[in-house]
Amino acid sequence: MDRRLRELRLQEERDFLESMALPQPAENPEHARGPAGESALPWSPEEEEEEARRGQAIVPEPLITDGDWQVPCLPKSPRDASLILEAVKRNEFLRCLGDGQSQPLVESFTPEQRQPGETVVAEGDDGHTMYIVAEGELSVTQKGRQLRVLLPGDVFGELAVLYNCQRTATVSALTVVHLWAIDRQAYRTIITEKAKQRRAEVLAGLRGVKPLQGLSDAALSQLLDSAEERTFAHNEVIIQEGDEGRTFFFILRGQVEVTRNVEGQEEHIRVLKTGDHFGELALIRNIRRTASCRAQDEVTCIAVAKEDFQELSPMCAREPEETVQEFLPFSESRRGSYLEEPTTPRQLQDLLPVFYEEGEQRGRPVVLGTGGFGTVELVRSAEDGAQEGFFALKRLRKDHVVQKRQQDHVLMEKKVLQQSRCPFIVRLFATFRDSRHVYLLLEFCQGGEMWAKLREVRCFSEPVAVFCSACVVEALDYLHAQGIVYRDLKPENLMLDAKGYVKLVDFGFAKALRRGEKTYSFCGTPEYLAPEILRHEGHDYAVDFWTLGVLIFEMLVGRPPFHSAEPQKIYSKIMDGVFSFPVSVSEAACSLVSRLCRRRPGQRLGNTSSGIRGIRKHRWFSSLSWKKLALRQIDAPTTVLLKQGPSYANFKRFSVAQQLPEEEFSGWDEDF
Ligand code: ATP
Ligand code: MG
Repeated sequence: MDRRLRELRLQEERDFLESMALPQPAENPEHARGPAGESALPWSPEEEEEEARRGQAIVPEPLITDGDWQVPCLPKSPRDASLILEAVKRNEFLRCLGDGQSQPLVESFTPEQRQPGETVVAEGDDGHTMYIVAEGELSVTQKGRQLRVLLPGDVFGELAVLYNCQRTATVSALTVVHLWAIDRQAYRTIITEKAKQRRAEVLAGLRGVKPLQGLSDAALSQLLDSAEERTFAHNEVIIQEGDEGRTFFFILRGQVEVTRNVEGQEEHIRVLKTGDHFGELALIRNIRRTASCRAQDEVTCIAVAKEDFQELSPMCAREPEETVQEFLPFSESRRGSYLEEPTTPRQLQDLLPVFYEEGEQRGRPVVLGTGGFGTVELVRSAEDGAQEGFFALKRLRKDHVVQKRQQDHVLMEKKVLQQSRCPFIVRLFATFRDSRHVYLLLEFCQGGEMWAKLREVRCFSEPVAVFCSACVVEALDYLHAQGIVYRDLKPENLMLDAKGYVKLVDFGFAKALRRGEKTYSFCGTPEYLAPEILRHEGHDYAVDFWTLGVLIFEMLVGRPPFHSAEPQKIYSKIMDGVFSFPVSVSEAACSLVSRLCRRRPGQRLGNTSSGIRGIRKHRWFSSLSWKKLALRQIDAPTTVLLKQGPSYANFKRFSVAQQLPEEEFSGWDEDF
C-alpha cells in the first residue's frame, strides 16, 4: 500500500483501537522501506512512522495496444444494464464519465459467479478488477475484522481500475453470488478512447466558430481546457437580454431558442442546435446582452468565461504583451555557471563506494536512498582526490523494470536527464549497464531530500517556501521549454544541493508532449493528482502547475491540501476542488495556490496565455530576483536546514542487504 496512505490508515486504526481500549496494531516489518528482495535494516518506530508518510507514486502503465486483446463487448438486458449504470453513477469517480461514455462501459462488464465461502479479493493482493454485485451477499473484512456486507448494486475494488493498488480488505461470498467484473485494461481503454473522441469532436466544432477562426490547434485546445461543461434544464434561461455578458457558449447537445424584446413583446429570432454557438457579441464588443437564450430541452454547452474568451479570440482587442527581459524563458545567458564538470568516470569500475565513517553502520557503503526499482548509493571517482568528485549512483534492477513494464519510463528518465542542462535539475554524467542493473551516475545533492527537511521542521517559513518554489518554477520552465511534462512534483522528488538550492530528481514519469496534445496515462501521487487525471480527460503541461500549487501548500502547511486516510476521499476532495488555508498562510500565498490549483487546466496560472511569466510576476515572489536566482547568486534561506558533518550528514542512514537480482537480457537497455 502507498506509504502515505498506509500511515494514515495506521493512525485511523490506532484511534479506533484506542477508542476500544485494545492493544495497538504492530508495525508490519514487511512494510519497511526498500524494494522486494532487498530487505532494509529495521528502523525505529518513529523513523518507520515518519517514513510511512512518504507519498508513493502511481506508476503509469502502458495500455496493451497490440496482439489479439480486445475490450469485451457483451450486450446486456435492460435490467442488467440499469443495475450497472446505477452502480456506476453512484460511484464518485466513475460517475463523472458522462452519458456518452456509459454504453460501451456497460457492455464491457463480464459475468462471474462465486460459491459461498469463496474469496473474491484478498487483502494485500494486487488489484486488477472492479466488481458490481448482481445477486447475492458478500462480506468485507479487514485484518480479520468484519466491516460490512455487500448487496446487489454495491461496487467494490474500484481503485483497481484506476491503478495497480493493493487490496485493502478481503471480500468473500456469503451466498452464491453473481458479479459484473471489469478489469483495468478494459476500463482504461474505453475511457481513454471516449475521451479522445469527445475532445476531437468538440475541437472540430470549435474550429468552425467564426470568432475563433485563425486560432492554432494549441490555442483552441487551451480554450477548451479553460471551459466548463454546463447543463441547462428545459426552459431555463441561459442568457438574459440586458445582462452583462460573462460567458461564451458552444452547444454540445440540445436546442436553444433566441428571442428579443420588441416593445414589450418577446420576439422569436431563431433556434440554435448542436454545434452552434452564442454569446460572443457582448464579449467582443464589451456590450450588454442583445438577446435572450432559453433551453428548449435539456441543453449541454461548453461555457468559456469572458476573460478566457477575450484572451484567445482573435476578434478581441488585447493589450500588447509586455516583454520584460527578466521573464523570458530560460536562455543560455541566464543559466549561469553552476557546476564545474567533475572528471566523468567512464566505466563502473572507475567508481568507488563511500563508506560510513562512524556509528553502527561504520564501514558499510553509504546508501542515499531507495526507490521503487533499486537503490541510490554515494560513490566517488577512483581518480579523484579524497573529498572531491562525489556522485550519486542510481542502480535500477532490470528484472523489476521489465516486470512492471517500465522500460520506456527508465529510458525517458535517461533521455531527459541527459539532455538537461539546468541548475535546477539534477545532472546526469554517465549511464552504465550490466546483466542485472542499469545505472545512472548523477550529481550528488548533498543537502538531502526536501521531504526529509519538511518532516523535520513540519513546515517551511514563507521565505524558504518562496525560494524553494522559485527553484521549482525555474526547473519546470526549463523542462516545458524542452517539450517535457514532469508529472511527479512533490517534496519526495526534490533535493537540496550543498548551497541549499533545490533540484528536481526522478524523471521516471516525465513525458514529451507537443503543445495542444494530451496524454492519458494515470500517474502521479494520490494527494498530488490533478482533477483532469482523475477524470481521465487527458492531461498536459497544466498538471505541473496544479502540483506546484499543492507543493507550495504542503511546504507552508506541512500537509497537502487534499488529504484523507482513504484514497477515494482524497479523490473526491480533489474533484470538488475545495480546500482551505490555515490563518498562518499569507494572503499572497493563498492567492497563488488558489490560482495554481484551479480545477480547469486552462485557467491555471502558468497555463494561461502569459505562461510561466504569470507565476514569476505573482506578488508572492515580489521579494525574489529571478535573475539572481538563475545565476545562483542568492544566499539560499534553506541553508539553516542543512546539517554539517560528513558528506552524507543530510541523509538518513540505512543499509540495504543486497540480493543479486535475476539477469535480464531482453535488450531494452541497449542504449544505456
Ligand atoms: P521512486 O520512483 O520509488 O520514487 P526511484 O527509484 O525513482 O524512486 P529516486 O527517487 O530517483 O529513485 O531516488 C531515491 C532516493 O535516493 C531519493 O529519494 C533520494 O533520497 C536519493 N537520491 C536520488 N538521487 C539523488 C542524488 N542525485 N543525490 C543524492 N541523493 C539522491
Ligand atoms: Mg522518487
